[in-house]
Amino acid sequence: MTRVFSGIQPTGHLTLGNYLGAMRRWAEVDQHRSDALFCIVDLHALTVDHDPARVCRLSRQAATLLLATGLDPEVCTAFMQSHVDEHTRLSYLLECVATDGEMRRMIQYKEKAARERERGGSVRLSLLTYPVLMAADILAYGADEVPVGHDQAQHVELTRDLAVRFNQRYGHTFVVPKVTLPAVAARVMNLQDPTKKMGKSDESGAAGVVYLLDEPDVVRKKVMRAVTDSGQEVVYDRETRPGLANLLEILAACTDGNPESLASVYDSYGALKKDTAEAVVEVLRPVQARHRELCADPTYVEGVLRDGAEKARAMARPIVDTAYRAIGL
Ligand code: ADP
Repeated sequence: MTRVFSGIQPTGHLTLGNYLGAMRRWAEVDQHRSDALFCIVDLHALTVDHDPARVCRLSRQAATLLLATGLDPEVCTAFMQSHVDEHTRLSYLLECVATDGEMRRMIQYKEKAARERERGGSVRLSLLTYPVLMAADILAYGADEVPVGHDQAQHVELTRDLAVRFNQRYGHTFVVPKVTLPAVAARVMNLQDPTKKMGKSDESGAAGVVYLLDEPDVVRKKVMRAVTDSGQEVVYDRETRPGLANLLEILAACTDGNPESLASVYDSYGALKKDTAEAVVEVLRPVQARHRELCADPTYVEGVLRDGAEKARAMARPIVDTAYRAIGL
């Protein structure tokens, strides 16, 4: 059976981008067609200046939301990265096959490091090495597929390179995984600045970010205030009309439609925004309702994470042990 692995960082409140780009597919498709693992990658949240209490709170919230999207612990494995030591054990071995040049070429590293420097802060070494830990997250489980949004594709490519290199040097150890992207909404953009992605950790762009727990009226307000491009016609063109294209993609993803055909349905920006806002509200409604139920039962979520970690550890340990032997330890 195909094995799927993916993760989410508790660096902020989860967004519509996380949901449409990744989480929705995990719940609706991946968990049913594969042997799937979904992880709150809390160690990754330590790569930038962080508040321990906030990371702890956001990790629990991310776990609750993952289950609220419909992940079923009976059919998939949901767990917290820091509960399974195999991730860091393997990460070190992979650091011994990765190069610093490779790490410095990673787009997210360049962007996040620049943001840290702008704030006058220093860049943590873990920010540079984080893609190696991500490679370990994936390779420790022998994952065949990694369903992510477009922004993570480069890291999955690096994971492939490291797996191939390790296998060539030390004998076949790792499955070489492939990335899978959603058909639409692989890159949901910020509603106020459609040249940058809708990201959960970018506080300066929060007005253009729809969070999964935003109240319906807040969602409506954010979508109605979305920046659109100058012009009258509703056309789908990511290059010249990024604001409009973003709304069409969000609407298409929420209604299982196609952005090009939706463009021909509308003759005003106002009507497109109104329908997009309602479609987002409808998509979020059941997730928010289930989230409220789960919040009333925190011991259930804790139990899911504990059992998930146990299952995950049992899958990762033999693979990581094989890697230790292969590399000469
Ligand atoms: P973030 O950038 O919000 O911190 P993560 O690194 O935790 O996101 O990513 C979790 C998943 O959500 C990944 O698969 C990532 O590709 C996806 N994702 C994040 N932001 C977006 C977006 N704006 N559009 C589409 N997918 C996204």
